[in-house]
Amino acid sequence: MAVLGNPDMLTRKIKLCHINAHITCRLCEGYLIDATTVTECLHTFCRSCLVKYLEENNTCPTCRIVIHQSHPLQYIGHDRTMQDIVYKLVPGLQEAEIKKQREFYQKLGMEVPGDIKGDLCNMKTHLDQRNGDAKSEDPTNKDAGEEKPEEDNDYHRSDEQVSICLECNSSKLRGLKRKWIRCSAQATVLHLKKFIAKKLNLTSFNELDILCNEEILGKDHTLKFVVVTRWRFKKSPLLLHYRPKMDLL
Ligand SMILES: [Zn+2]
Ligand SMILES: [Zn+2]
Repeated sequence: MAVLGNPDMLTRKIKLCHINAHITCRLCEGYLIDATTVTECLHTFCRSCLVKYLEENNTCPTCRIVIHQSHPLQYIGHDRTMQDIVYKLVPGLQEAEIKKQREFYQKLGMEVPGDIKGDLCNMKTHLDQRNGDAKSEDPTNKDAGEEKPEEDNDYHRSDEQVSICLECNSSKLRGLKRKWIRCSAQATVLHLKKFIAKKLNLTSFNELDILCNEEILGKDHTLKFVVVTRWRFKKSPLLLHYRPKMDLL
């Protein structure tokens, strides 16, 4: 959605068919519902489609990378930003989905779960806020993940900075002596993994997972991306946890 970056194009109409490929699920070919993204490669599917697929497979349906040998479901995460975008772009989709879920629970004679009701309310507020703020940082902007072309000599000290608290949540690893750090928002999760591995004298950064809100983060995410899409601008510092990878637990 790079058009957001160009003020002249803010009001330009875009045909839905031109962006359909980015907001549909490859597994069911419908619009994404409960968008869920593979942590490592960032490919997105409906949650139910992906979970069903991963019962029999451990690879990404799009790019075929091995998500995880034995616990692929641990390496996917709800992608609220993507779902917000889909609901915003496809008229009536959110309402239809709410109706479908209500009917589903009613048919079973069950009360509509509170969290669904709550979620939908939150989502509405969230979308409303977005409407008035269309020019703000677009979390889907692919540029966010790219390094700046020219190397700056100040080791990224003039970049936007992010304050982080790195907590250990496993008895198998020890905590850091200094768990509060500040670094460039352009740094990636991989940088943090390498930092922790060095501090803890691990043989490889690959032994670690870093989590935000209990969701494992892909190594290529920038911290800016994590703040925007996972931490969702809650107050500083950004709280991250680390633990051994699933198969080392
Ligand atoms: Zn699907
Ligand atoms: Zn993939």
